[in-house]
Amino acid sequence: MTRLPLLFAASAVLAGCATAPPPMTDFTANSGSPRAPEQLAVTFDHADVSLRVDPATQSISGDTALTFTATAPLARIAVELDRNLPIDGASVDGVALPAAAISNPEGRLYLALPKPLLAGERTTVRIRYHGVPHVAKRAPWDGAFVWANTADGQPWIATTVEGEGCDLFWPCIDHPMGKPKLIDLHITVPAPLVVAGNGVATGMTEKDGWRTYDWRAKNPSTYGVSLNIGPYEVLAGDYVSRYGNTIPLRYWYLKGDAESGKKAQGLFDEFTPMLDFFEARIGPYPFGDEKMGVVETPHLGMEHQTINAYGNKYLKSPYGYDWLLHHELSHEWFGNQMTNADWDDMWLHEGFGSYMQPLYLQSLRGEMAFQAELFKQRQAIKNQAPIVSGKTQRIQDVYESERGGPGNDIYVKGSLILHTLRNLVGDDAFFRATRRMVYGTETPVPGQFQPRWSSTKEFIGIANEAAGRDLAWFFDAYLYHAALPELVETRNGDQLTVTWKLKDGGPFPMPLEVRVNDRIEKLPMTDGHGVLTLPPRALVTIDPYSRVLRRAAHIEAWQADEAARKKTKAAK
Ligand SMILES: [Zn+2]
Repeated sequence: MTRLPLLFAASAVLAGCATAPPPMTDFTANSGSPRAPEQLAVTFDHADVSLRVDPATQSISGDTALTFTATAPLARIAVELDRNLPIDGASVDGVALPAAAISNPEGRLYLALPKPLLAGERTTVRIRYHGVPHVAKRAPWDGAFVWANTADGQPWIATTVEGEGCDLFWPCIDHPMGKPKLIDLHITVPAPLVVAGNGVATGMTEKDGWRTYDWRAKNPSTYGVSLNIGPYEVLAGDYVSRYGNTIPLRYWYLKGDAESGKKAQGLFDEFTPMLDFFEARIGPYPFGDEKMGVVETPHLGMEHQTINAYGNKYLKSPYGYDWLLHHELSHEWFGNQMTNADWDDMWLHEGFGSYMQPLYLQSLRGEMAFQAELFKQRQAIKNQAPIVSGKTQRIQDVYESERGGPGNDIYVKGSLILHTLRNLVGDDAFFRATRRMVYGTETPVPGQFQPRWSSTKEFIGIANEAAGRDLAWFFDAYLYHAALPELVETRNGDQLTVTWKLKDGGPFPMPLEVRVNDRIEKLPMTDGHGVLTLPPRALVTIDPYSRVLRRAAHIEAWQADEAARKKTKAAK
């Protein structure tokens, strides 16, 4: 997800008014609760999701067949589904279940199997349901359905469920490790509306004024499955990558006037340089046999797999690129190909995704744009909670600083931590470690890798190996403690002494550059401090190339001043 310009949310075209269903349960509203034992005892082979979406009543009806293989003896199937979508019926391998075998008290739906499964046995459960799904109040920050209209009054519909989870519109395992191996989507909408979907289009049929669009995607991330419905036009092309494979490019957009067609083409023209940057820096586009897909949405954006949501309204930036398109695209590597095993590790999605922006700008525009973007991120760091708690987390408990989570720091501090790591270990080790985390190999080849899960713990191990040394002190200080390392400077005559200080203690042998007049001194800081003898009246700059993230009292003072001014303004 992207989070920075909250202001845009207010201007997004938001929902109409449907009859509001009862509030979601706390369980449904929060993605990533621990999985049920029954969910840990299956592989999720296939989800076949048929969904009829009716803009006139802002309601849905679903018919879903889910296929599982038991990995241990199993008496019931457990999936998540918002209990505000009543079940019309369920069956197991074609045999209807009695009502007593179906229960969904708070959003975890249990189906008692007529006959327990043995390990290795397969079953297909079919679940029919209908209802008025939740409507997002502030998509994409709070998710659900967005029922909007185009300028000429046609339905324009999107879903975005990162925080709450897939269970807002289809029965699924609402946990980052709950990906089905394959999903087929059959989305029915009034003709002539278009459905832009995940993966590959496998067909479209039209009957009685309704169209059903079929889409098929491999290993979709759970919140990466989305509905995008509107009177779309599509821009299409093919891209021959540096790895030799051909990647279909698709952009679904709203036609509007002649100007919007030009703007859409401008965005489409950014696809290939962005793809090539990621392929050069990280590795092959993970879903090259499906597509790079983007769809114009009534909300700001989301990393829906192979169908990234784009709602940045073609906003120009002095950098000359569309940051939102770039951010969501980064999640195809950091989020969809490599998915965090637990939401506690969400910085692996947002921190890496955010660091790709200054790196792209460095490649596209040069050093001024690179450092400017890094400094913009640096100004936003809050240090209120550690980036990683070391405990299982629900997603909103990480994204929301109001709930005590690291909030926006998973983006901006995550990015600066990675920048510091790269400067510490060098490009070769940094990008080898990144590649291994993303693909499980340092030499990924299109078509020869699978999506994978990673964790902070795994990344630390990979980084240690790539760097050939133990970096526990680095990750401990930056990820597991809220306060930033501080550099204490003391002058005594011509002696400058610099000492690393950690609020919670511990070693911090971070090397440091100091510019003395025009000469760069390199201090190894192996025991956490260094001494320099300075010439008279020397101009001294600590860390002149801004390689090391550390506490900056002047930024804290500015942040406090800004906050006070905002408060005064709000009170007026
Ligand atoms: Zn994001």
